[in-house]
Amino acid sequence: MTSASFSSLPISSAQIANLDSLGYKQMTAIQAQGLPYVLQGKDLIAKAKTGSGKTATFGIGLLQKINPRFFGVQALVLCPTRELADQVGKELRKLARNTPNIKLVLLCGGKPFGAQKGSLEHGAHIVVGTPGRIEDHLNRGTLVLAGLHTLVLDEADRMLDMGFFDVINEIIEQTPSKRQTLLFSATYPSTIKKMCASILNDPVTISVESEHTESVIEQTFYPVKSQQRNKALLALFEHYQPETTVVFCHTKIQCDEVARYLHNHQIEALAIHGDLEQRERDQVLVRFANHSCSVLVATDVAARGLDIKSLQAVINFELPRDPDIYVHRIGRTGRAGEKGIALSLYTEQEHLRVRAIEDYQNKPCQSVDLDTLKTSPGFSLQSPMVTLQLDAGRKNKIRPGDLLGALTGDAGLSGSQIGKVDIFDISSYVAIERSASRKALNYFANGKVKGRSVRARMVVDSI
Ligand code: ADP
Ligand code: MG
Repeated sequence: MTSASFSSLPISSAQIANLDSLGYKQMTAIQAQGLPYVLQGKDLIAKAKTGSGKTATFGIGLLQKINPRFFGVQALVLCPTRELADQVGKELRKLARNTPNIKLVLLCGGKPFGAQKGSLEHGAHIVVGTPGRIEDHLNRGTLVLAGLHTLVLDEADRMLDMGFFDVINEIIEQTPSKRQTLLFSATYPSTIKKMCASILNDPVTISVESEHTESVIEQTFYPVKSQQRNKALLALFEHYQPETTVVFCHTKIQCDEVARYLHNHQIEALAIHGDLEQRERDQVLVRFANHSCSVLVATDVAARGLDIKSLQAVINFELPRDPDIYVHRIGRTGRAGEKGIALSLYTEQEHLRVRAIEDYQNKPCQSVDLDTLKTSPGFSLQSPMVTLQLDAGRKNKIRPGDLLGALTGDAGLSGSQIGKVDIFDISSYVAIERSASRKALNYFANGKVKGRSVRARMVVDSI
């Protein structure tokens, strides 16, 4: 595989130095293939999976074109969820570090409208957000896109799955027709094709296939009767005993049911789907990422918000209709050369889906009888960490170092007993080794952080 350095691109040396300081030494495949076109101003359709470096592919391009002296929105990035918009916003800010006076505003649902309106009034060059809230701002006249030169649709397939087709078209109608449009999608179903035909102008299409799915992901299919699914799922856990797993389901109700079933069988699991309140979603994502929950039961849409480097296992509780989605799901395991396992349950009726996956991957699927799984009576799966929630956050000027300092100082924990720290506006989460959680809680019952007493509680399952 060829690797290319950013210095081969027509971008400023300040940006190259910035990329270097971010540790971006070589372009990822999608950047190497896409950036030359993006920088030429071409429209682009890029098919690539999560973690391939899409943000910099459009980010470096759109930043290059921003005129800081023009106080109008020049670039708009549409994302399916708030989490994804947050991630894109963070990444763009990093990429913009060397370009002074560029203002980026996030416009997502679940946040106060008034504050967003205020930020827009102060002038924004770049807007990143979710379609629904952006449409609201357009309708109320608080957002104007007449000066836009770059439009990005990130994770376009998910936005369509979530029913944003009409909203996106309405947003696009308010942008100048002479603009650069960049569309990114993990899959390329016919709905995306249709959308591309109407909104892109003479686009270049690039596709970065999952580089190592075949070699490092071990894929196994288990035929089941539909009433056997739950039991079969338990058997998979007993046999493989994975430390981090996402179980994919189709519906929200199914996610809840499967999580509850696992929970009732001593496997700690949390469900995540679009029906959760934002605060609950945040908590679930925090707990999974900080290893205080080992199993997440998710819909495809909800799983997009996950920023997890290495899942040990992906389980398809049911097979998706589209083989593209299957490949995308299993691509979350076996990253960075590690071995991953992808396990799929399927019934007689889903047989055609297995065929479609075989056609797509151009190789037979390995089907194995459930009887071959080793049972392990009394098996239970508990995460190594627990999460403490504190009632102080960014607004109280709490930083990760303050919490680490308090816990390793007065509370007497060792650094290795403390995991990830996540700070939100008015609360924070700290992962603590299970065996040290008492000690940490006792400390917060009396001790202080930055001179202020902080209330702590252990986050427990609401199942
Ligand atoms: P995607 O949107 O395709 O899922 P991101 O753009 O969020 O992926 O990038 C995934 C991760 O890789 C981010 O943490 C980002 O900072 C990092 N990254 C992106 N490009 C490079 C690069 N050229 N070299 C090293 N790391 C990179
Ligand atoms: Mg992304």
